[in-house]
Amino acid sequence: MSTPAPRITHLVGGAPWTGVAERTSPVYNPASGEVTGQLDLASAATVDEVVKVAHDAGREWGQASLTRRAQVLFAFRELLNARKEEIAALITAEHGKVLSDALGEVTRGLEVVEFACGIPHLLKGGFSENVSTKVDVYSIRQALGVVAVISPFNFPAMVPMWFVPIAVACGNAVVIKPSEKDPSAVNAVAQLWKEAGLPDGVVNVVHGDKEAVDRLLEHPDVKAVSFVGSTPIAKYVYEKGTAAGKRVQALGGAKNHMVVLPDADLDLAADAAVNAGFGSAGERCMAISALVAVEPVADDLVERIRARMATLRTGDGTRGCDMGPLVTGAHRDKVVGYVEAGVESGATLVVDGRDGDVDGDEGGFWLRPTLFDHVTPDMSIYTDEIFGPVLSVVRVPSYDAALELVNANPYGNGTAIFTNDGGAARRYQNEVEVGMVGVNVPIPVPMAYYSFGGWKSSLFGDSHAHGTEGVHFFTRGKVVTSRWLDPSHGGLNLGFPTHD
Ligand code: NAD
Repeated sequence: MSTPAPRITHLVGGAPWTGVAERTSPVYNPASGEVTGQLDLASAATVDEVVKVAHDAGREWGQASLTRRAQVLFAFRELLNARKEEIAALITAEHGKVLSDALGEVTRGLEVVEFACGIPHLLKGGFSENVSTKVDVYSIRQALGVVAVISPFNFPAMVPMWFVPIAVACGNAVVIKPSEKDPSAVNAVAQLWKEAGLPDGVVNVVHGDKEAVDRLLEHPDVKAVSFVGSTPIAKYVYEKGTAAGKRVQALGGAKNHMVVLPDADLDLAADAAVNAGFGSAGERCMAISALVAVEPVADDLVERIRARMATLRTGDGTRGCDMGPLVTGAHRDKVVGYVEAGVESGATLVVDGRDGDVDGDEGGFWLRPTLFDHVTPDMSIYTDEIFGPVLSVVRVPSYDAALELVNANPYGNGTAIFTNDGGAARRYQNEVEVGMVGVNVPIPVPMAYYSFGGWKSSLFGDSHAHGTEGVHFFTRGKVVTSRWLDPSHGGLNLGFPTHD
């Protein structure tokens, strides 16, 4: 008889939850297809329990001095840096991405922690002396209370870290609701907060699905929601959360275009297309999925990409391969369905990822890198976010046609232009309706001190993640007008205050 998969549960008030879950869900190792954990799914009542713990802890934490908060952040930074390999291994075991990529994800999360270490500086307010005679005005920003972070499967460590360090540094308590597909990395990172000296209850993890999300969106003590996931759910979360009076930033899906102009360095462009198209098996919100080749470069570019793809090794993420499996069997089947639809709709299948060997267990959720050429904007492989290792080449006659195509797309997360013409690059950066733009950089993810976020159907709300927008999102402003009485002040005047 096989032993049951270990239980994975919520972290509440600094300790694993001790209740009994009504529902659980299996967690897989995508490289073997085996069930490696059983995850507790929270009921609405369990969410209430967790929010209460966070609410109580947040009251005190919101009063902690800036020095103390910064000290916890610095300690957390050291722990995360020391344990990043451990976290990366957990990511690979449940997500499937290769170890080096998992480590890269933790490193990008670490950058946000480093940004948040500067919270005393970031929270400095303004002060105006003598706005009126002997009257001063100053502005301060204060914590919101309890905030929720709801994250997707594709960056189980980094996406929560876009928000949690800043929310904590600003004096809030946090309830994280990770993806149910790869929950262990978040639990491990949450333990590090405790080790760093953060009071119990300030960072909590509640696992679950729609039931848990819906309760967080309704709960009166949850003041703000940072969501990242697919566009339909992002829109739902934004509408439901704001209807309940919360501030919400909801980052959605993407279809990222890489435009290659005729004067581009085609070797650089081919390298970039392969790296950004197939890294993490295309399961990145900043993955390049549409390559827009401005003629006459397409034949040459497609050939260079095909040649590079022949060298890629797909397999188990712990074995030094270039690309791992897809996250679940159901997702792999969905992506294979898109490959079939692409063939049926008449696109040219240059490289078929359904064929060929993988360096991994037979039961893994495999699909090798796939390349389509002569893709047109009406095909589902172009219109839909596939979220798999499928790159589509769309051929266009000119820069204007490329720009029109990108701007007509409902998504606006990331885009890149490859060219040696500075004027063309500058024009593209100005004219394109996309939130993050790369010039000869295929995945232009901003550094932590800038803010991350797309336009159009890639983001609901007006607040991007991390950077100063993150600090703004997790605090509310207060302006104080102050006068210390001295004998010159006095007398009655019922008019509206003006300055003198
Ligand atoms: P998803 O939308 O399925 O899930 C995201 C979160 O929402 C998870 O925590 C999940 O449990 C929850 N959820 C799922 N269905 C729900 C429902 N019906 N009601 C309430 N909550 C629900 O997304 P995913 O498959 O985990 O992640 C992939 C998607 O995330 C892609 O579309 C990708 O582009 C997007 N993404 C976007 C960004 C960005 O910055 N814009 C970053 C990473 C991922």
